[in-house]
Amino acid sequence: MPEQRLSGVGVTPLSGVGTVVWYAPDAELDEPPAPESVDADAERERFEAARDEAREEIRAERERTAERVGEAEAEVFDAHIQFLEDPQITEGVETAIDEGLSAEHAVTRTFDRFVEQFAEMEGRMAERADDLRDVRDRLVRVLVGGDRVDLSALPEGSVVLAERLTPSDTAQLDPERVAGFATVTGGRTSHAAIFARSLALPAVVGIGDALNDVADGADVVVDGTEGTLVVDPDDETREAAAGGEDVEIRADPVATADGTPIEVAANVGTEADVGPAADRGADGIGLYRTEFLFLDRTSPPDEDEQYTAYREALEAFPEGRVVVRTLDIGGDKPVGYLDLPDEENPFLGERGIRRSLGPDADLFETQLRALLRAAGDDAGGDLSVMLPLVTTVEEVREAREVLESVAADLDAEGEEYALPEFGVMIETPAVAFLAADLVEYVEFFSIGTNDLAQYVMAAERGNDRVADLGDYRQPAVLRAIRMTVEATEGTDVWVGMCGEMAGDPDLTELLVGLGLDELSMSAVTVPQVKKAVTETTLADARDLAERALAASTKDQVKDVLTETTQ
Ligand code: PEP
Ligand code: MG
Repeated sequence: MPEQRLSGVGVTPLSGVGTVVWYAPDAELDEPPAPESVDADAERERFEAARDEAREEIRAERERTAERVGEAEAEVFDAHIQFLEDPQITEGVETAIDEGLSAEHAVTRTFDRFVEQFAEMEGRMAERADDLRDVRDRLVRVLVGGDRVDLSALPEGSVVLAERLTPSDTAQLDPERVAGFATVTGGRTSHAAIFARSLALPAVVGIGDALNDVADGADVVVDGTEGTLVVDPDDETREAAAGGEDVEIRADPVATADGTPIEVAANVGTEADVGPAADRGADGIGLYRTEFLFLDRTSPPDEDEQYTAYREALEAFPEGRVVVRTLDIGGDKPVGYLDLPDEENPFLGERGIRRSLGPDADLFETQLRALLRAAGDDAGGDLSVMLPLVTTVEEVREAREVLESVAADLDAEGEEYALPEFGVMIETPAVAFLAADLVEYVEFFSIGTNDLAQYVMAAERGNDRVADLGDYRQPAVLRAIRMTVEATEGTDVWVGMCGEMAGDPDLTELLVGLGLDELSMSAVTVPQVKKAVTETTLADARDLAERALAASTKDQVKDVLTETTQ
């Protein structure tokens, strides 16, 4: 049988070969009983008991996940407990019972309503729908006494296929036994994708309905680099996948073949990502997304908690640089306890630095205090502070003034501190245009192509319908990058990139040629990018960049890129 390739989104640059095991976690429900036959008091008691049991299970899974995957990943289970105890959900279930539904049907109806509401939202809010499904399925299973497929005891060489994998499902997968997984739904930032990266599992998500036609027991290759699932792979495909990762992990900094040093750093979201970043050979941290310290909890982390987190990151890279981005919330990153405004278009609303200089001024000050104190510690590497979603020179000036006043306060209090390097993310067309005016206020720029591409192209990130437009290989995006770099020429300001584009090894030569000094990415692709840096020369890279910048369509850019890789 000829091999068949299904495309999705590859979330780890790893491949695995194995046999399909379909996983369908939903417990089967019988038809609802006649309302008059339902004893509401008894059903309420069953619901209460099921909640107690589910809570115990979640706590145990949280502990296991913290041990096996990481504390940050385990925090998702705190959100599950919150859903389990949410007064609105509980009231919904109890009302449904009073209307004559059995506990399991009442749970299903109520949770489905909330799932629907969350699924209609954007970005990370939509992913909350997966958490709700997870809690719903757990409660129903406890209520109907169903057995759960034990994902931790699958036969060796299994490739798990599923509609979706919830955090509890993914955390159970044993990388020693499971060769990979693929799902119908999900994107790069879904929980399943994040867990796959932490567990270094080959994974492709978002394949769509075509995945449902793959039979249980079929032979497949999960190719996380290409983002494909190959069904009935031929010998060549199978061997290429089984060869595993053939790239060396280099702990030392790298340079192009003719000696231009390029810093290759990792993006991290929490303390748990820091160790794996160092293990993959990252020179430092090019983007610490501090909003993850603020998510999935009920109040913000205080100054000492933040200080400890930043210090740990610095200690992990004693010779390197750690770029910490100040709180970037709003847009697709809501924080429940902060009472964010209900905006028609949050990506164009109050997010990033706009909140830090506005309603979250107190949080900004606390964060800067923690950062300046961490910068004053000489146990670790060098700290840099970076502002998200800047659009004006005034914002940069004002943020610098806050930083200086925080330093003055610490001074007056006799606290140890140091002034960190100060920089700005280039994520909007406005700052790309203003880059030349900003160089006098900053020591560095870091280009965030995830947002820059969405704002340059007016194509929302995460919206599949406009994914082609929002591609970072669009000529307009390349020119915005070049414009930024050009503004720094002849100055001491360095330019990095911390959007997903930086982690694409096929683009490393282009980015070196565009003049970037640093590339920062998910830790998992650090070795591939380091290798790509050493395989080019500055002259070749510049020549490639020049040809790419001359292209006026994305297809032409792609042609320029493939000509050189052939
Ligand atoms: C970006 O926009 O490219 C970026 C790195 O920031 P985030 O993905 O966290 O918005
Ligand atoms: Mg961004």
